[in-house]
Amino acid sequence: MSVLVFVEPDDELSLQALTLARGLGDVRAVSLEGAYAPAAWAAAIAAAADGADAIVAAGSDRGNELLAHVAARLEQPFAANVTRIDGDVVTRVRWGGSLLEEARLHGSPRILTAAPHTQPAGEPAPVELLVAPEVEHAPAVVERVEEQAGGVSLRDAKVVVSGGRGVGSTEGFAIIEELAGLLGGAVGCSRVVTSAGWRPHTDQVGQTGTKISPDLYIACGISGATQHIAGCKGAKKILAINDDPEAPIMASADYAVIGDLHVIVPAISAELRKARG
Ligand SMILES: Cc1cc2nc3c(=O)[nH]c(=O)nc-3n(C[C@H](O)[C@H](O)[C@H](O)COP(=O)(O)OP(=O)(O)OC[C@H]3O[C@@H](n4cnc5c(N)ncnc54)[C@H](O)[C@@H]3O)c2cc1C
Repeated sequence: MSVLVFVEPDDELSLQALTLARGLGDVRAVSLEGAYAPAAWAAAIAAAADGADAIVAAGSDRGNELLAHVAARLEQPFAANVTRIDGDVVTRVRWGGSLLEEARLHGSPRILTAAPHTQPAGEPAPVELLVAPEVEHAPAVVERVEEQAGGVSLRDAKVVVSGGRGVGSTEGFAIIEELAGLLGGAVGCSRVVTSAGWRPHTDQVGQTGTKISPDLYIACGISGATQHIAGCKGAKKILAINDDPEAPIMASADYAVIGDLHVIVPAISAELRKARG
């Protein structure tokens, strides 16, 4: 089986997509450069996929958007966020990770994206650069401005310190920022926090926020709703700081400190300072 894979440079999720694709057959990796124009990029991918049995990309915002365009163009069904393929049956993540669905994927080529953090990252493949054709009335992204948190982006940070309703206010985030700064990490938050206007939406972790996979996620005053866990379950370790030992986040946490975050977070920062002299 021949499999066309859309990959992005230096992208962990693309390496994960390669792993899923290699399980299907022989891989041909392609990419595009320049201004992101979903309809035009999809036209290039669809043309390159002539004769391919499957088209695969990462289940990132961009991968899902592009392959949705490709599927529309080729008039084929599309399965997003697939974890497993067995014949024509795909298992895929639905509802922000709260359920797994088995579905039959008909159509040729089979078009699917790999659910983030459900495959190990594969070896990079040689990448063929495609050229996007002119597509009439195709919208293009002219500029992308990444919001930075303390100099480290939320998506790439190895440590993320997040605050929820328990932080209490915009000013309350000073202790979260301090700890994140000491750990060289980024600040995140729950949706309650962005809805209250304490932090910008770009800081939100979750189903409708950023999906992250740091080495360590520190959740302070966050209950652990499924929509929040959908964004942080890729973390290697989760430390929950919460005054409720029954909070749902405990089911996902590797470590927990039960108590008032307004006491615990500054205490951790003070210990870090002390340890560093
Ligand atoms: C379609 C949809 C999409 C959504 N997308 C997202 C999303 O992307 N991200 C997201 O986060 N949510 C999302 N939500 C909202 C989600 O369901 C929860 O409402 C939200 O995550 C709760 O935020 P929280 O944990 O900060 O607040 P709460 O659930 O109120 O939890 C606060 C926690 O803080 C603890 N606490 C309080 N005071 C202290 C203290 N002083 N010290 C220590 N602990 C304390 C409490 O015990 C509690 O566990 C979505 C909801 C829907 C319906």
